[in-house]
Amino acid sequence: MVNFDLKIQVMIKIKQVHKSYITGQNSLHVLKGIDLEVGAGEMISIMGASGSGKSTLLNILGILDNYDSGEYLLDGIKINRLSERKAAQLRNKMLGFVFQSFNLVSFKNAMENVALPLYYQNVPRKKRNLIAMEYLERMGLKDWAHHLPNELSGGQKQRVAIARALIGKPKVILADEPTGALDSTTSLEVMDILQEVNSTGITLIIVTHEHDIALRTQKTIRITDGNITEIIKN
Ligand code: ADP
Ligand code: MG
Repeated sequence: MVNFDLKIQVMIKIKQVHKSYITGQNSLHVLKGIDLEVGAGEMISIMGASGSGKSTLLNILGILDNYDSGEYLLDGIKINRLSERKAAQLRNKMLGFVFQSFNLVSFKNAMENVALPLYYQNVPRKKRNLIAMEYLERMGLKDWAHHLPNELSGGQKQRVAIARALIGKPKVILADEPTGALDSTTSLEVMDILQEVNSTGITLIIVTHEHDIALRTQKTIRITDGNITEIIKN
């Protein structure tokens, strides 16, 4: 008998995650027992007021920060107080990042910015630039390859950042307010690209303030004061 396994593979699973920031004598309890499961290939959004803990959660998912208690499994791998070396290895292999402020290197051109993750993987310059050009072309930016970030529009900069996130062939892309610095038309263009990226099977988690951006994802998680208070299917 054929055994059909229709269960969607879980990409991200966090259970009862708590996180506090300690500054001097003060402790700020930011995440208060977060449970979240994201399936492989899902595209979800996280909404919540400023200061509710969205970036803190995304940083934990991105292995950029530790959590205090609970559990985090990324593609079945237990993520907990890893050495910086191991964390960097997993980030390179599994994750891509997109930020509101683009985080491009100002003195490197678009092609070099996209190629940067391959530099850290010791891919020779000629080869990494060639691959970077393919990703820029996919973003419609081939003609802008030799321009510096300050010669690009906001939308172009974010497309460079998305190409840079994709070049390491990540399983998950984490985007913290990727349209937060863009006008509404450009925001929708960037969302088109992110949806296209998701359609290739990459799991996408997008933090956003904007309802129309959240509506372009399959599911919206609302965080209120460090707790998940609502999960909406869009
Ligand atoms: P959001 O992204 O939802 O706006 P954050 O996760 O950035 O919220 O921040 C949640 C709370 O934690 C805020 O009160 C913020 O000031 C505080 N916070 C964030 N990062 C740090 C840090 N590195 N040290 C101390 N407090 C922090
Ligand atoms: Mg934030």
